[in-house]
Amino acid sequence: MGCGASKVLPELPRDEHLDLVKKVEPYTSHDDRYKHFIKDHCEIKAPSPPQHSNPYPGNHLPALLNQPEPCKNKVAKYCAKFDTRVTAKYDIKALIGRGSFSHVVRVEHRATKQPYAIKVIETKYWEGREVCESELSVLRRVRHTNVIQLTEVFETQECVYMVMELGTGGELFDRVIAKGSFTERDATRVLQMVLDGVKYLHMLGITHRDLKPENLLYYHPGTDSKIMITDFGLASAQKKGDDCLMKNTCGTLEYIAAEILVRKPYTNSVDMWALGVISYILLSGTMPFEDDNRTHLYWQILKGKYSYSGEVSVPGVMVRGSEARSSL
Ligand code: ADP
Ligand code: MG
Repeated sequence: MGCGASKVLPELPRDEHLDLVKKVEPYTSHDDRYKHFIKDHCEIKAPSPPQHSNPYPGNHLPALLNQPEPCKNKVAKYCAKFDTRVTAKYDIKALIGRGSFSHVVRVEHRATKQPYAIKVIETKYWEGREVCESELSVLRRVRHTNVIQLTEVFETQECVYMVMELGTGGELFDRVIAKGSFTERDATRVLQMVLDGVKYLHMLGITHRDLKPENLLYYHPGTDSKIMITDFGLASAQKKGDDCLMKNTCGTLEYIAAEILVRKPYTNSVDMWALGVISYILLSGTMPFEDDNRTHLYWQILKGKYSYSGEVSVPGVMVRGSEARSSL
């Protein structure tokens, strides 16, 4: 998942205290609340190619109900960690994503039976609070067919639960892996939808800053599905009259624009750089900038050094940016 080793968070201003969570409750646990659920019996599977018979191909864990007994207990424990206001309204079905500070679960609204995704962000540490603040400040403002829609938010002292529409078609990343590469026609269709979403965001003064195939979700498993931009944890939302230049060094290294790497003030055109990288990936099935040595990778990006042969690659050769690298 995207929020991994090569995802770089903006630096925290020294004396700034982010007082994000308004509803304060006594803090009791010092453990990773989810680690027992994630490990042991409930192994995370490698992302599988989209299967149209499966309504939830993006799931990295088996459905919660069909687990063996020991796993069921862990599932019950996991669900018990959720705020009761959340579990009273939503039935938790499966874990579908996890990052450094967040977990995403598929849920069902108990009354309407409507499926949703809930992103649970831990706000104990400042990084989690930063991510959460960015994400909420954007999601509360946006409504566009190619941008994930926020439905409601629950807040506690330790976590924020964002209820969102559910993408059941998996990540664009998984489809690139499954297909190897896209035809120009298919790539154009995908990019057109992403560009529509990005244009809308830029019109609102929002720069995503972490566009990559892992953060582009298919609404449904069909080939004609729309794409939705998600994960606004690193987004920058400018207020009216703000200076449009940004300074924070953040993003996922393989997709970061050169001007961010050299720490120059930059504009929303960094999203267009990332879209260029995504276009390259879609057409070739490989990364334009890739090197195990991070210094070499930096130089490749700074010099814009890439080559494109136009040849179709073998399925499954691409590695997620966040899994491929260690931190900056
Ligand atoms: P992170 O900051 O940890 O990368 P994301 O918001 O990108 O968090 O969510 C992690 C993963 O969870 C995504 O890459 C995607 O696979 C899954 N996911 C997130 N939101 C949704 C959603 N609304 N519907 C379906 N899957 C989702
Ligand atoms: Mg992500």
